[in-house]
Amino acid sequence: MSTTVSLSNFNINDYRTLLPEELNARIVAAKRALGDRLLILGHHYQQDEVIAHADLRGDSLELSRMAAERPCETIVFCGVHFMAETADIVSNRPERLRAREGRRTTVILPDLAAGCSMADMAAIDQVENAWEDLSQVIDTRDITPVTYINSAASLKAFCGRHGGIVCTSSNAAKVLEWAFERSKRVLFFPDQHLGRNTSLKMGITNDQMPVWDPYAGELGGSTREALEQSRVILWKGHCSVHQMFRPEHVANFRKQVPGIQILVHPECPQEVNDIADLSGSTGYIIRTIREAPVGSKWAIGTELHLVNRLKKEHPEQEIHFLSPVLCMCATMYRIDLPHLCWTLENLVAGTAVNTIRVDDDTSAFALLALERMLAL
Ligand code: SF4
Repeated sequence: MSTTVSLSNFNINDYRTLLPEELNARIVAAKRALGDRLLILGHHYQQDEVIAHADLRGDSLELSRMAAERPCETIVFCGVHFMAETADIVSNRPERLRAREGRRTTVILPDLAAGCSMADMAAIDQVENAWEDLSQVIDTRDITPVTYINSAASLKAFCGRHGGIVCTSSNAAKVLEWAFERSKRVLFFPDQHLGRNTSLKMGITNDQMPVWDPYAGELGGSTREALEQSRVILWKGHCSVHQMFRPEHVANFRKQVPGIQILVHPECPQEVNDIADLSGSTGYIIRTIREAPVGSKWAIGTELHLVNRLKKEHPEQEIHFLSPVLCMCATMYRIDLPHLCWTLENLVAGTAVNTIRVDDDTSAFALLALERMLAL
């Protein structure tokens, strides 16, 4: 994988002191100058002032798919690193490149420090070591590796190479069914909570789901017996945002607001998922609120910016943020107006800064795992 930092024409520090009104005006002017050569994608968790400039809004997979359908020279992805990688893979897949006579779509992440703490919890060498260690205990031909889309391209490629697949929070159950048609077991990474919550709904029990901790030494801190009896081996990773929601937050709302419904994301821990009224992906949460009867009451356990936007867009509902502490995606928050303006003005000046380019080999195998999922 390669990330390129081209020499910028402008100093980012000069943008940090500008007022939002000036930044907004300059972003609008740069967008006008770039016209339909440019596509700005905004993830649902992004702050409002950045979303205001996005051409398309969605979750990571929706955005990459939409981008692949819409021809442009440059995608500016206002999300985090793994999302920009997926956009690069999907937008520059072989048939698209052929149709564009080899011209690549350039993908830019306005701040390269916008990573994902969950994706960082499973490094490719750790996963390869775990696979090797597992092969000493169980036949790895009987394990399908499944990676959540919130992971580095190298992990998606690992799945592509080993007969595995990618999943999202909306199709995880379908992906696990696909995997169990092919093997007895699944190695699920990097989010243990999505893996566990989904598997529990399919009737798999916690004692069939040992957790593999890459820092725990031998056999990931598990035992030979536990691994032999496993159906799903869960990687010890989590989202630092969704991990913050607690069962006591649910209890507080139930006590204080009669009739409230608790709606959470499956990246939340099992103790929260088990007592929520509804649990589902970002898309599911948005649809549920949009389609709810007027005047219904909700406490939502997902990223703060999305919940605040739902509050604004649905004044007909009573919407609360489930946690008393702020659970926001701090890395996504790094993409701000100064970085967006700096990126676009560099583009107008002819320089693509902070480009994300997945190498061809990784891209080919990651695409294989993504396409297995898309075919479901
Ligand atoms: S909300 Fe969690 S999983 Fe999503 S990008 Fe942020 S840290 Fe990663």
